[in-house]
Amino acid sequence: MSHFERFVLKYLGAFGERIKRKTLPPILTYHSIDTSGSVVSVSPGEFAWQMRYLKEFGFETMLLRDYLADLSAKRFTSGRVAVITFDDAFRNVHEHAVPTMQEFGFTGTVFVPTAHVGGNPDWRMESGLHMSPLMGWGELGDVLERGFDIQSHTHSHRSLAALNAHEIEQELEQSREAILTNLKHEVDLLAYPYGDHNDTVVDQLKKAAFKGAVSVEFGLNPPGTNPFRLKRVGSAHFTSHAAFRACLWGMYGPLLTMKRRSK
Ligand SMILES: [Zn+2]
Repeated sequence: MSHFERFVLKYLGAFGERIKRKTLPPILTYHSIDTSGSVVSVSPGEFAWQMRYLKEFGFETMLLRDYLADLSAKRFTSGRVAVITFDDAFRNVHEHAVPTMQEFGFTGTVFVPTAHVGGNPDWRMESGLHMSPLMGWGELGDVLERGFDIQSHTHSHRSLAALNAHEIEQELEQSREAILTNLKHEVDLLAYPYGDHNDTVVDQLKKAAFKGAVSVEFGLNPPGTNPFRLKRVGSAHFTSHAAFRACLWGMYGPLLTMKRRSK
């Protein structure tokens, strides 16, 4: 990141804190809470700083399902709200993120790839990403009891865009069955593995009575956003405290556009 970008971020974050009374609720995406420094990791200390920041500036959290219900009913969420999501259900989320969030009265939504519960994120092997164990059903049940929500991240964590309609249907069904059997919990939301989706995937989700799905595309969701193409704000962008603040106040998007144009 250049000095100029750092300067702009600092300015935008500070501007957001002072001027903006409210912002569109960002859906924040986290994966692993560890100290590996990988692009999809946030350290426990940094995560705690981010949660403290939310609390300090009067943010409340909303479960994705409640946020989506409001969005669909065109009820506009007012005030300072953040929707916090965790993809892959890493055990370190149960260990670090959940207790920290509880301390501040926050909740979040955990997306589980059900074939890998209690195992390892094998799909990360190829990309050389940090390997860390995933929660077992006991931990997932505990997360649910603490007021968090559990939703689907498919069964196998394959890219849905690479599968045919029947295979997609099976992914959704198996994942839903596993969560219902093990947690007695109904799911109707999905996080697309790798963010990959297309019209066939969305059609299958609707057929299976899912209510919405989150991608990994950066952005906020203004009223009228398609619930099956919800954008999020990924932790990979939280490269500094200033960047986190700019993301939270909805002021990171313009900088990103500027960066893309200059490439
Ligand atoms: Zn994933």
